[in-house]
Amino acid sequence: MSKLIYLDAPVLGELEKKYLCEAVDTGYVSSVGRFVEDFEKRFSDYLGVKKSVSVQSGTAAIHISLYELGIKEGDEVIVPALTFVATANPVVYLGAKPVFVDIDPDTWNIDVDRIEERITERTKAIIPVHLYGNPADMERINDIAKKYGLYVVEDATESLGAKYRGRYTGTIGELGCFSFNGNKLITTGGGGMVVGRSEDRLDHIKYLVNQARDNRPEYYHSEIGFNYRMTNIEAALGIAQMERIDNLLEKKKIFNQIYREELKGPVRFQKEYKNAESSWWLTAVYIDRDIDIPELQKELSKRGIQTRRIFTPLVEFPMYRESRDKYPVSYDIYSNGLCLPSSPLNSEDDIFYVTKTLKEILR
Ligand SMILES: *Cc1c(COP(=O)(O)O)cnc(C)c1O
Repeated sequence: MSKLIYLDAPVLGELEKKYLCEAVDTGYVSSVGRFVEDFEKRFSDYLGVKKSVSVQSGTAAIHISLYELGIKEGDEVIVPALTFVATANPVVYLGAKPVFVDIDPDTWNIDVDRIEERITERTKAIIPVHLYGNPADMERINDIAKKYGLYVVEDATESLGAKYRGRYTGTIGELGCFSFNGNKLITTGGGGMVVGRSEDRLDHIKYLVNQARDNRPEYYHSEIGFNYRMTNIEAALGIAQMERIDNLLEKKKIFNQIYREELKGPVRFQKEYKNAESSWWLTAVYIDRDIDIPELQKELSKRGIQTRRIFTPLVEFPMYRESRDKYPVSYDIYSNGLCLPSSPLNSEDDIFYVTKTLKEILR
């Protein structure tokens, strides 16, 4: 079996080449050129928002969002215990402290019932993550935020295209952050985007990520800025990818349906909240029996099937270390969960092959 069944590889082709060549041919490869603006416009149109600000990565998007909201030393920010480390690190960049909350066993997103017990007078924001594309319980999160006067910054880096009550994830909190890393739904090589409720805030973020350079003929800066701009080359890729987005989402959805139908019984899947529609960026399963996940991955890998472990709970790392006992659900999902091939490069037959193989191994 020499063929590979991909976990999360991107779809790239002639469209991407066309726009990339255009960027090179025009000489606009850096932060000037038409593609950055075009990409932001297309992204805004897709989400149904007025404005989007492109940045260098999803991590940069989260960092600049928290900075814009004034998160600083001594503040606390609520973060789910099970997520990619880049949800929490930007909190620390600002001298603030991530405060972890265990996840919900059904949706694998922040357990909303446990948020309030972690709120103190220092808490300033909540960062819900829509894990693997599955929307968090935004209505209740927004209610809690309102009650305590907190900001909500959505980590929508994994959930482009997912909806909650008919609205796209990322557009529901005060600010929303996206990533275009190579493994995300669409890619620009590396990049990110910020959207939000307030156009003034987004204008200010746009200014901050360009070194806070004032609109004056001489180089003049009235505050500390960042160099977080997306380049024209990256945006060229982004435009091509936006043309594919419906197709990419459709494939992810079909793959998820196949997994659910074929793997009934031996595994459990993430559940969606009422009125939530996951983008199924990655289909992940919880294997309901005594099995060693790394061993299972080895067996699948021998048969050409790429998989990935669930994120290690952040409280396992030296910089965020806490007792495991406080986060039983995160550790349970981490220990028994697995991400299955979800790349749109795969065919439906590939996914059937995965389910057949997985059932054979689990038998
Ligand atoms: C990918 C990801 C990020 C960071 O995005 P980058 O573009 O890689 O910086 C942040 N949070 C989560 C949950 C992610 O999956």
